[in-house]
Amino acid sequence: MSMRVDIISIFPEYFAPLSVSLIGKARQKGLLDVRVHQLRDWTHDVHRTVDDTPYGGGPGMVMKPEPWSEAIDAVVGAAASPPRLVVPTPSGRPFTQRVALEYAGEPWLLFAPARYEGIDARVMAEYGSRLRLDEVSIGDYVLAGGEAAVLVMVEAVGRLLPGVLGNARSVADDSFAPGAMAALLEGPVYTKPPVWRGREVPPILLSGNHGAIARWRRDEALRRTAAHRPELLALLDPDLLDKRDRAV
Ligand code: SAM
Repeated sequence: MSMRVDIISIFPEYFAPLSVSLIGKARQKGLLDVRVHQLRDWTHDVHRTVDDTPYGGGPGMVMKPEPWSEAIDAVVGAAASPPRLVVPTPSGRPFTQRVALEYAGEPWLLFAPARYEGIDARVMAEYGSRLRLDEVSIGDYVLAGGEAAVLVMVEAVGRLLPGVLGNARSVADDSFAPGAMAALLEGPVYTKPPVWRGREVPPILLSGNHGAIARWRRDEALRRTAAHRPELLALLDPDLLDKRDRAV
């Protein structure tokens, strides 16, 4: 089954990277159906205006509601099962691996990346009452526009779709993956040669002892999480911790 993704933006050309690498191949294989729309196609003035000055004053411009509503209505049409509408904004709920997994289970996502100071809030009020709408942030920083955020989300979701990754186990081993490694960052990884510039690969990885290797990887994941994201350790399911974990 393929996932459909629609993106409405004033910079459709921003999404060229979605033809490259893993996501590009997923599209070629028919696992992902990406359709990018020019928001200005739903304007009716000669300048194809999508923004105006903010009510209440202040710097910057705000995206007008009319082009957005016409565009969203045209994309959604009379669909019996409408898409989940995703609006990137720094003031949204955090986009995490858990949200990516949730989205990967959806048949259809519609992204509405803004520019300027964002979209007139009535658009979210209107579609929040008609569709399932999420306002999501990809991190605590401010981008110039939502396009880069959409690229991030489509890549994070796309690689989770069945058939996209050659080896489904890589998803299970990822940082933040659900299960025994939930909330843990992935530890260091190594490849050949076994010695490089005098630096050896940890001998245990060459031992062939799969139990010991799994234990070593978990220890390293715990250490890295403690060093880089100590707040994540508090989220670990106590039932999934063993005595050795507690010692690390
Ligand atoms: N004044 C807005 C604020 O402080 O919330 C920032 C607007 S930003 C310059 C323009 C657009 O970029 C936003 O409407 C959103 O679509 C996108 N954007 C910026 N930072 C983002 C983030 N961290 N996550 C998701 N989208 C973001």
